[in-house]
Amino acid sequence: PLVLGIETSCDETGVGIVRGHTLLADEIASSVDEHARFGGVVPEVASRAHFEAMVPTMQRALDQAGVTLSDVDAIAVTAGPGLAGALLVGVAAAKAYALAAGKPIYGVNHLAAHVAVDTLEHGALPEPAIALLVSGGHSSLLRVDDLAGGVVPLGATIDDAAGEAFDKVARLLGLPFPGGPPIDRAAREGQLTIPFPRGLTAPRDLVEHRFDFSFSGLKTAVARWVEARQRAGEPVPVNDVAASFQEAVCDVLTAKAVDACREHGIETLVIGGGVAANSRIRSLAQERCDKYGITLRVPRPKLCTDNGAMVAALGSHLVAAGAAPGDLGLPSDSAMPVTAVTA
Ligand code: ATP
Ligand code: MG
Ligand code: FE
Repeated sequence: PLVLGIETSCDETGVGIVRGHTLLADEIASSVDEHARFGGVVPEVASRAHFEAMVPTMQRALDQAGVTLSDVDAIAVTAGPGLAGALLVGVAAAKAYALAAGKPIYGVNHLAAHVAVDTLEHGALPEPAIALLVSGGHSSLLRVDDLAGGVVPLGATIDDAAGEAFDKVARLLGLPFPGGPPIDRAAREGQLTIPFPRGLTAPRDLVEHRFDFSFSGLKTAVARWVEARQRAGEPVPVNDVAASFQEAVCDVLTAKAVDACREHGIETLVIGGGVAANSRIRSLAQERCDKYGITLRVPRPKLCTDNGAMVAALGSHLVAAGAAPGDLGLPSDSAMPVTAVTA
C-alpha cells in the first residue's frame, strides 16, 4: 500500500510516504533550534511550530514522492505518546487531509513506529523479535509478537530515559542540546578512563529488575565526578567523560537486550529510537549479537530520530495486516501505553 505518515509528537514535524517497505519521501521541519536555549523542548513553542510547518512539509513530501494525496491508500498519524498540544496539531491535520481526500486514517503509537521504521531498511520484521526502544522519553525492552498489535513489555527504565541521560550529561559538560550527537562525537576522541556505574546490574537487581534500566544514578555519578575535578581546580577531560558515560549506557542496554533474546529464545533484535543513532550502541550491539548468533537490525541514524517515515512504515504494516482504521473521532493520547499499537 501507498501510505502517508504524519509525526508531530515532539519538536519534529515529519511527513513520510512509503509504498510497502519502500521509502518514497521523508520530509522533516524541526523546531529544535528554538528550544536549544531553554535546554529542552518548550511545548507551546513546539505546537506553534508544527502548525506553521505542517502544510509546507506535506507539500514537500508529496513532491519528493511524486504523488498526490488522491494516490495514497491511507494516512497514518502519531496519536501518542508525546506532548499533548503537539500531538493535537498532527492529528487534526491528518483528519483534515483524510476527510478532504476521502482516505482511511490510522492513529498509531510513536514508540511502535520507532520499531516499525526498521522495515524500510531491512524488510518485514521476523516475529517474534526483541525490541530495544531507546529515545528521549522512553527506554524499554519489548517482545514484539506481532507488530500490528502484540507488544509485550519486558522491562523499562525506572527513572530517566537513555536519551534524557545523554541530554542531561551533555548539559553538565557544556555541550549543546540535544546532547546525544555531541556526546557521540566527543566520545570518539576520548578514552574509557572512568569506571561509571552500570545501573541495575547488581545480582539482586538482575533478579528483581532483570530487564529494567536506571540512568539517574549514572547521571549523578557523572555530576559528582565533574564537580570533584572542578573543586580541585583541574580541567574536566570532556572527551573521556563522554566516552566513559556513553560506554556505561551502551554496555547495560546491549547486555540486557541480548540477555532478553537468549532467555526468550528469540533470534532477532531490533533497536529503535533516537539513541539507536549512537555509534557505540550500534557497534557494541553488533559485537554481542554476533557472539550469540542473534540477527541485529538497526535502521540508519536518520531514521532513528523522529520522522514521518516511521509513522508511514507502521501504517503500511497495519494496512497490509488488515487492521481496522480509526475514524474522524480518533483521539490523541499523550500517555499512550507502549502496548497500544493503534489508538
Ligand atoms: P520519545 O520517542 O520517547 O517520545 P523523542 O521522540 O523526543 O522521545 P527521539 O527523537 O526518538 O526522542 O530521540 C531523541 C533523543 O535521542 C535525544 O535524547 C537525543 O539526545 C538522543 N540521540 C540522538 N542522537 C543520538 C546519538 N548519536 N547518541 C545518543 N543519543 C542520541
Ligand atoms: Mg526531536
Ligand atoms: Fe521519538
